Amino acid sequence: MDCIFCKIANGEIPSATLYEDEDFRVMLDIGPASFGHALILPKKHYADIYELPDELASRVMVLAKKVAGALKQALKLEGLNLLQNNGSLAGQTVYHFHLHLIPRYQGDEVGLTWKPGELQDKDREVIIEKVTALL
Ligand code: AMP
Ligand code: ZN
Repeated sequence: MDCIFCKIANGEIPSATLYEDEDFRVMLDIGPASFGHALILPKKHYADIYELPDELASRVMVLAKKVAGALKQALKLEGLNLLQNNGSLAGQTVYHFHLHLIPRYQGDEVGLTWKPGELQDKDREVIIEKVTALL
């Protein structure tokens, strides 16, 4: 399999690494949305959140918390978004699970907002019925 993030995560291709342990690498995004935009990726290949094992899923959030704190302190950011895209429609371009940490600054041009809709009664019922049955 020819996956660029596998090669980066395992050190075959150099990256701007902020942190590394046995299971994860944290690096700067090559096309940053803002100053300090970082990515957390597991060293093993999982295409997306659906494939990610529970144990790594929980540890990735603990690591995100640690990196978020370091970014906040080091870069004097004013906000921070966590973003994780699954599927091309959601903006995923690299099919190796990764979590974005996107620092926010006054006046930046990071566009992660949407126009809020209104939760309709019929939608609420359908969604609750279908999804709760699977959880
Ligand atoms: P996504 O659109 O969620 O799949 O995010 C992929 C991200 O990976 C984008 O923000 C890219 O800028 C970033 N990216 C792609 N190739 C590299 C690379 N070689 N090193 C660092 N970041 C990369
Ligand atoms: Zn991979």
